[in-house]
Amino acid sequence: MPTMPDPNPSTTVPDRYDAQVIEKKWFERWAGDDTLYQAESNSSKKKYYVLEMLPYPSGVLHMGHVRNYAIGDVLARYMWMNGYNVLHPMGWDAFGLPAENAAIKNNTPPRDWTLANIANMKAQFKRLGFAFDWQREVTTCLPEYYRWNQWFFLKMYERGLVYRKNSRVNWCPECATVLANEQVVGGCCWRHETTPVFQKELEQWFVRTTSYSDELLRDLDKLGGWPEKVRTMQRNWIGRSEGAVVDFKLEDLTPGRPAGPAGGTITVFTTRVDTIYGATSVQLAPQHPIVGDMTSADSALKAKVDQLIAEQRSAREAGDIGAIEKHGVPTGRFAINPFNGERVPVWVANYILMDYGTGAIMSVPAHDERDHEFAKKYGLEIRQVIRPSAESGSTGVDSQKIDVEDVSFTTLDGVLENSGLFSGLTCNDALARMAAHAEKNGFGKPTVTYRLRDWGISRQRYWGTPIPMLYCEKDGIVPVPEQDLPVILPENVDITLTGGSPLSRVPEFLNTTCPKCGGPARRETDTMDTFVDSSWYFYRYTDAKNDKAPFDSAVANYWFPIDQYIGGVEHAILHLIYSRFWTKFMRDIGLVKNDEPVERLFSQGMVIKDGAKMSKNLGNIVSPDEMVARFGADAARMYSLFAAPPDRDMDWQETGVEGVQRFLGRAYRYVMRNAQPQHADWRKPVPDDLSPEARALQRKLHQTIKRVSDDFQGRWHFNTCVAAIMELMNAMYAAEGKRDDKGEDKAVAAKIPIAFLADAQRKVVLLLAPFAPYLAHELWEVLGEQGNLLRAPWPKYDAALAKEDEVEIAVQINGKVRSRIVVPVDSPEEYVKDVALADEKVRAAIAGKQVVQIRVIPGRLVNIVVK
Ligand SMILES: [Zn+2]
Ligand SMILES: [Zn+2]
Repeated sequence: MPTMPDPNPSTTVPDRYDAQVIEKKWFERWAGDDTLYQAESNSSKKKYYVLEMLPYPSGVLHMGHVRNYAIGDVLARYMWMNGYNVLHPMGWDAFGLPAENAAIKNNTPPRDWTLANIANMKAQFKRLGFAFDWQREVTTCLPEYYRWNQWFFLKMYERGLVYRKNSRVNWCPECATVLANEQVVGGCCWRHETTPVFQKELEQWFVRTTSYSDELLRDLDKLGGWPEKVRTMQRNWIGRSEGAVVDFKLEDLTPGRPAGPAGGTITVFTTRVDTIYGATSVQLAPQHPIVGDMTSADSALKAKVDQLIAEQRSAREAGDIGAIEKHGVPTGRFAINPFNGERVPVWVANYILMDYGTGAIMSVPAHDERDHEFAKKYGLEIRQVIRPSAESGSTGVDSQKIDVEDVSFTTLDGVLENSGLFSGLTCNDALARMAAHAEKNGFGKPTVTYRLRDWGISRQRYWGTPIPMLYCEKDGIVPVPEQDLPVILPENVDITLTGGSPLSRVPEFLNTTCPKCGGPARRETDTMDTFVDSSWYFYRYTDAKNDKAPFDSAVANYWFPIDQYIGGVEHAILHLIYSRFWTKFMRDIGLVKNDEPVERLFSQGMVIKDGAKMSKNLGNIVSPDEMVARFGADAARMYSLFAAPPDRDMDWQETGVEGVQRFLGRAYRYVMRNAQPQHADWRKPVPDDLSPEARALQRKLHQTIKRVSDDFQGRWHFNTCVAAIMELMNAMYAAEGKRDDKGEDKAVAAKIPIAFLADAQRKVVLLLAPFAPYLAHELWEVLGEQGNLLRAPWPKYDAALAKEDEVEIAVQINGKVRSRIVVPVDSPEEYVKDVALADEKVRAAIAGKQVVQIRVIPGRLVNIVVK
């Protein structure tokens, strides 16, 4: 076999590290063993459920995937080695729009495209050596999975948790079809770049997620194992605000003129009803039904409102609705403030959102920053009704003289004025009293509002779970009976045609019989949002082949909650809110016992290249296949853990992968040279009376085991773990330098006993096992080990052996010994100084004095001069 030059000139190279040959050998062995990564049933071991978010089968894995799955895999292997019963499954989030787009582009049925992609990505996963239990594979686009989506839908329907209501969708008049938000590009259709997309009202199915708003919010406090950032994002998303609703009656234009279909009452939501005497206008969302009434007879107003809607939509597309430049239009109408009977103008504004609160606010420019900005812009009256309380620092200032510009907009630390019979109350008192007053007089009440909305799950698309509902002329909406599930998604549907839901063009799907009356009925042709699929998939892994139920409760109760869930922070809101909701629903119908699905959550950073996110446009995509072909799977995975702490973004650098590959080569050559499983001493216990050289190496070995183990338990800085193993390998090479190449390791044997050499190599291979499984398995065999490395016990460190040798040093102050400190031998001077100055007796002796000089005489003395 050819040899490669070795960086260490004092040794020869017995063999070359050929990752491809080694990895092929083990790949083939592993391929033949389905039980390798299987979780045990009825195990007496402690369980550990580690899960990475399932990928969308786009066709190929990218480096971000490799990193995500490398983190989970290293953890799964570590927990197996620590004696846990580990569940580490994988599956496919296989429904969704890209399959339909690909179908339209390449004329391939979505199912074929998806299944081919899955086959390809599964092969990539296997080549990378990820330890997934493929017996439990879940593919969400197959009927054996999605039938349970339908089953859950029916269970929710029975309990009033799904309902139908009118809702807006994006509509392309050219396509005559509904567009997903991603298909709206700059306000136009993705296929018709100059055709503006309209909003159209359609009846759609909703899941009542809001019935769990309070619990979803409250239980965030239980999720101590989640990143604070994610909990905050969820808290904001649920967006609970306490406040009041107050009815402002629309003033009739001509007395007695009836209101429009939306009625004559504008209900505003406010968190600051105490400022209502300062309300100088009412602001409506452009989509507010009353605005619809006003514009139906006023085309000039309609044009202006349409403009506001367009502005709102582009701000939403830009992703920052909060930063919208505020615009409004007066409607010319007035509404009556029920507290003081005052007429206030009614405006329509682009920053008022129909999906928050009631879609209407009272504008109080003196005490709300946003209202203030708006009032300044349009010249609306600014009227102060709160003055800072005497205690709040503005003592003695006559309220009349306060410039409203100086009033803190949001303070609750004030006293009401110009507020009728409520003047003189503190804000906090007024909030409660004024809400009660509104309730008593029938024009409002205290309320709690949430930003969280019910979940619209209808999609007018083909590639999704059919919604199991029927429409009968006689019986109306009829659920598909449970025993008739699954409602199979038909194949061979031409989805390139435009005009409505693709399923509505499949007569054999559409037309059916009503289970109630036996008459003709038609099926719901919408499919479910793919977030339904991912809301409960991790339960299915526990019992993936069950055809009687979504899963067996007892089995799920053993595995849940998930001990560690790993995925991108882009899923911090929707996926994790929906799956938390789903768990609470499953608990309430008696399927599971846990309140929350995930005990600990980890969000890894992104993989970037040359400072930018990898993308086709930038041409900076690194292909995992290419990395594996050039450097091996072990090097690619290990580098993705080594390059940065897993929660940070990592910049992919090829020289870094090369470096990791070189290190693996060093480890390989070391073991190839030093493995002597036939030696008589090979399995003997490590002797106690080691030479100083051997003792130093032993200390390093145990320190490394401690460091790696601690990191797995704590902060997960796998980059420093890998660096520590590299340092250990350097120390082993340095000790090997004393070897006599001609004789059969006589010199090594003299300084480092074979029993210890064997022990050290076994432990290094065990440390490498989670990070570089192919190489570790190869070396395990070279060391003469027979057992399954995946279940070999993780090495234990001996705290006494890991401890540095220590020395006692006297501390002199102005020539007198005042204390003695204990520090590791060869401690750096700065460290010894710090320890000396932190010593209690020393601190007492120098208290109040000035340290003029500190000198360290290594191993002997610290001399401090004070005056
Ligand atoms: Zn179109
Ligand atoms: Zn019927």
